[in-house]
Amino acid sequence: MKQIYLKRGKEDSLGRFHPWIFSGAIHHVEGKLDDGDTVRVFTSEGNYIATGHFQHGSIAVRVLSFDDDAIDDAFFRRRIATALEARKAAGLLPIDRDVNTCFRLIHGEGDNLPGLIIDIYGGTAVMQAHSIGMHHARQVIAQALREAMLQGAGHTLETIYYKSETTLPFFDTTDGFLYGKETDTIAVENGLKFHIDYLKGQKTGFFIDQRDNRALVGRYAHGRRVLNMFCYTGGFSVYAMRGGAQCVHSVDSSERAIAVTRDNIALNFPDDKRHEAFCEDAFAFLGNIRKEEAYDLVILDPPAFAKHRGALPNALKGYTRLNQKAIERMPAGSILFTFSCSQVVTKDQFRTAVFSAAAFARRRVRILHQLHQPADHPINIYHPEGEYLKGLVLYIE
Ligand code: SAH
Repeated sequence: MKQIYLKRGKEDSLGRFHPWIFSGAIHHVEGKLDDGDTVRVFTSEGNYIATGHFQHGSIAVRVLSFDDDAIDDAFFRRRIATALEARKAAGLLPIDRDVNTCFRLIHGEGDNLPGLIIDIYGGTAVMQAHSIGMHHARQVIAQALREAMLQGAGHTLETIYYKSETTLPFFDTTDGFLYGKETDTIAVENGLKFHIDYLKGQKTGFFIDQRDNRALVGRYAHGRRVLNMFCYTGGFSVYAMRGGAQCVHSVDSSERAIAVTRDNIALNFPDDKRHEAFCEDAFAFLGNIRKEEAYDLVILDPPAFAKHRGALPNALKGYTRLNQKAIERMPAGSILFTFSCSQVVTKDQFRTAVFSAAAFARRRVRILHQLHQPADHPINIYHPEGEYLKGLVLYIE
């Protein structure tokens, strides 16, 4: 294995198990490093400290082990088996076709496998690499995944799809099947059914991370006029329908999203006239809501407004503007579910942005719940950057 030596003092964060080594921390390298190489890392004094995947860029090494493990099939099997145990502890297994068949099995740093995402939809696994090292290891990981699922959960995977064209844009990869073939995938979540379009959909085809928050929407929906803004696959809408909403309107600017939403509603509530879907821009739609048709349960789950730190100030203004526009039009006694999935926006910053929105709208607002990502999107305690999804449930007086 190739070796990297750190500058003096640059080992401190690794001593606290932070899983990233920035390029500026590297003193010298033995040999020539290529993107995706597995490297052993040493302190300036020559002591071993970590093993990880190297890649040119600001994060130079993503740490896989602090225990001098060989990074081989047995390593990936152990890591996947541990992740599976954590999902069992969280009650997501065994897979039950009537209750739940989907969960995130590997959540990057949160599962001590930086650069790797694996989502399970029944017999289908969708794998996504965020680093070239994980890309190189994809076949080994696929094999380890099948074995670990069979051994640890008695679950046979029929299909493993690799989907990294969007997560490794600067690198020449092609999406495709590592195992099995295309299947019509319908996942079950809390007893509700969803078409999973892992071939063409965003991310791995479904936003599993909102599972618990969707269930909460279901509990608030009874008798309400619901607006699900940025609906994508219509997840929140399906739960609101089951919760007994008076009507549910789903909005997204993407035609595909609207088509998928309609399919998912039809799958669970065929011919139910309570649902309507609109392909429109969020701000335009909110601006055109008439008083007599005002919604008293609104969900705002926009795409990440800030993808990097430089975009933060504008993103915060965007969250304020969006929330203000919604709050202004909500009648007294309304409920607002509002989210941010931008990793660079902290919980406090998001709360401040929504605080400004409430103040500009001059409404009395209570926080009923503070929401976050679920147990199958765990946060490595040594990697607080892994906390990305935050939400508030507000009571608008
Ligand atoms: N709430 C969804 C996930 C939302 S993803 C879920 O639970 O699964 C963000 C969605 O916002 C995407 O589907 C995207 O098409 C949509 N979108 C992005 N910009 C938009 C805009 N200006 N107006 C309406 N929808 C938009």
